Amino acid sequence: MMRLLGVALALLAGCGGEVVADATNPAMAARPDQARAFEIVKASFARGMRTEGLLEDAPSVRWSETVCPAPAADGSYKTAVLDAQGRCFSGLTYEGCDIRIAWRGTYSASAFSHEIMHCLLDRAGTPDPDHTLDPAAWALVAETDGALARSGL
Ligand SMILES: [Zn+2]
Repeated sequence: MMRLLGVALALLAGCGGEVVADATNPAMAARPDQARAFEIVKASFARGMRTEGLLEDAPSVRWSETVCPAPAADGSYKTAVLDAQGRCFSGLTYEGCDIRIAWRGTYSASAFSHEIMHCLLDRAGTPDPDHTLDPAAWALVAETDGALARSGL
């Protein structure tokens, strides 16, 4: 009961599709190399913004491999995180850095660094749920995905 209330009232800092679906949202435990991927994200973010004391605790990440029942804009069917209304997202960050991410083959292709940025901005007291307030932060996410890809992640 508490858990459902928390989710219902959570700050939704997600992004992605806007598709109505009717599926469950199974989650997975930590993936292989997740700790290494997190260290890369943390180091990359620290090069571009203030992170001291904000990413010492790795956020909780739950992974989804559920395929969104509706196609993405390019016509393909992608894995997704489904919210309580059954809408598909590449990732969602709830209050308290409770992160859900659709696994799309690699960390760089998934919304891993993106959702960790939401967590960081929330912890810093400067949330940017619509990606409109801090363009430098979102540019840093793109750079970070490049660093992950170069590391084979
Ligand atoms: Zn976002």
